[in-house]
Amino acid sequence: MKLKKGDEVIISIGKDRGKKGKIEKIYPEKNSVLLPNLNVFKRHVKKRDEKNQGGIISFSKPLDVSKVMFVCPKCSKQTRLGYTVKKNEKIRICKKCKTGV
Ligand SMILES: [Zn+2]
Repeated sequence: MKLKKGDEVIISIGKDRGKKGKIEKIYPEKNSVLLPNLNVFKRHVKKRDEKNQGGIISFSKPLDVSKVMFVCPKCSKQTRLGYTVKKNEKIRICKKCKTGV
């Protein structure tokens, strides 16, 4: 997975298409990322007792990485990520402006 926590991405498909968010969490094994307050779903929770009143709770579902596009912090363009090796170090680069990100 090329994306990492804190990356800005734009959602390219679905109900939140065109919205931007910062990655809060990544799930490499599921190839998905969590964006706070985006891809929000509501769930009804039953009242269990006086402390747990129940009601409707909102929560963000992780999005598949194929549904988001990386937004380059250097050139602000939606882009793909690549890698380059400089001085034996693997550097993540923006494919549009070729800068390390
Ligand atoms: Zn760039």
